[in-house]
Amino acid sequence: MKYIFVTGGVVSSLGKGLTSAAIGALLEQRGLKVRLQKFDPYLNVDPGTMSPFQHGEVYVLNDGAETDLDLGHYERFTSGELSRLNNLTSGQVYETVLQKERRGDYLGATVQVIPHVTNVIKDRIYQGGDENVDVLITELGGTIGDIEGLPFLEAMRQFALEVGRADVLFLHCTLLPYLKAAGELKTKPSQQSVAKLREIGIQPDILVCRTEEPMTNEMRQKLSLFCNVPVKAVIEEMDVETSIYELPLALKAENVDDLIVDHLRLDAPDNDMQVWHDVVRHLKAPSHKVEIGVVGKYIELQDAYKSVYESMTHAGIANDAAVRIIRLDAEEIEDNPEKHLASLDGILIPGGFGDRGTEGKIAAARYARENGTPYFGLCLGMQIAVIEYARNVAKLEGANSTEFEANTPHPVIDIMEDQKHLNSKGGNMRLGACPCRLTEDSVSYHAYGKAEIHERHRHRYEFNNAYREQLEQSGLRIAGVNPERDLVEIVEISEHPWYVGVQFHPEFQSKPNAAHPLFANFVAAALKYKK
Ligand code: GLN
Repeated sequence: MKYIFVTGGVVSSLGKGLTSAAIGALLEQRGLKVRLQKFDPYLNVDPGTMSPFQHGEVYVLNDGAETDLDLGHYERFTSGELSRLNNLTSGQVYETVLQKERRGDYLGATVQVIPHVTNVIKDRIYQGGDENVDVLITELGGTIGDIEGLPFLEAMRQFALEVGRADVLFLHCTLLPYLKAAGELKTKPSQQSVAKLREIGIQPDILVCRTEEPMTNEMRQKLSLFCNVPVKAVIEEMDVETSIYELPLALKAENVDDLIVDHLRLDAPDNDMQVWHDVVRHLKAPSHKVEIGVVGKYIELQDAYKSVYESMTHAGIANDAAVRIIRLDAEEIEDNPEKHLASLDGILIPGGFGDRGTEGKIAAARYARENGTPYFGLCLGMQIAVIEYARNVAKLEGANSTEFEANTPHPVIDIMEDQKHLNSKGGNMRLGACPCRLTEDSVSYHAYGKAEIHERHRHRYEFNNAYREQLEQSGLRIAGVNPERDLVEIVEISEHPWYVGVQFHPEFQSKPNAAHPLFANFVAAALKYKK
């Protein structure tokens, strides 16, 4: 196996995760089996407990791991399936070390960062890929110079020594700030960032430079000289025009894949990247346009619903349409939903926790139901649909979820009996992929084109089966059920053109060249509704 380590310098938010994912895509196109993983130096054991304000979306894997949103990019750009072994935090590292120490595994030794902490990190590099993987790409979160990142860099240096420097490639992402007054790009911060890396003993092999202006040849020469990187390995990465999915092609134009294949001595024929050309072509010249409103609580945050927005883009590609997303704050639409929703071609309510904004979301679900606007509810969005239907169609006055109102007269959404003994912090969520059996002739069944599906979960509350019969009798269709525990997974409204609420998170399984069937079908319905 060969190893690529991706580090970042100068500032955060350089798009290191996207760059790593795009490189994965490039290598996969050349027939290599690629696996990506992320090392996050913060002390949380996983991002599951972090607020979206802190960390953006929590991305859930098939095995139920709650991970960094960069893993979402990895899965969207490449086909390798990731597991909980592919996201390591300092929290996990120290947890492991301390458990070993308490068990006496260190046989009386003084437990230290080198070698004990670095050994745990190195073990995880070895475990990151299996025997089928040709190239393991490990991205280190944070920026060079962060105190927390040091043990990870040290482990990477040691790792390269262990497996042999020729099987390892270090790629450093950096920023060339443009100074308007001087009218030029500056290389100094990059020089200093590379100097810091070399201080630790890591010499980057490729330098990826984020820049707003094209680099001159002189600039490349200068960076080459000061950073000790061959000129051809100084890569320009400009902001992409329309979409992140242009990035693999942009990096290909700079020959990044050739550099990697040569350096790691891989036998991997060049590829014309047709898949990515097709994706970009559809994105750049769509024939149609739809406007979808996303009614949420973290609407002002770019990253809180990352996978939802990406899935919508994929669905646009599948329908030859540009999907324009209108972000609506649930609290603001509550008083006059009509005003905010009337012009939309579709309404989507994403997942969420806590009761802020729920009444606004319920008003949006009602508007969609009464006006025939295509409605797609994800996780909380499904629960909202059930509450709305119970209140306004089945006439269960005051129906609610016990998450929002513990003493509601009609707990149509509730914690399941077998979960009640667990406390409310982590631990007791239904996480990861679960099977679901679809009802024939439902909208969902037609969208998937099959009856057995697996979708990822991250929630604590469920549809309350005590109300199932009553709600079905008043017209709610149960379109999908978990066969193992008889839990309701999908609800639909038969008389409505497209009204689907799912208890799971389909947005974690959509790709630019393979849109998730429900998202694709939802956007198709929105196109039809638009007339
Ligand atoms: N808050 C809801 C629950 O815990 C929904 C969670 C979600 O949307 N991810 O069940």
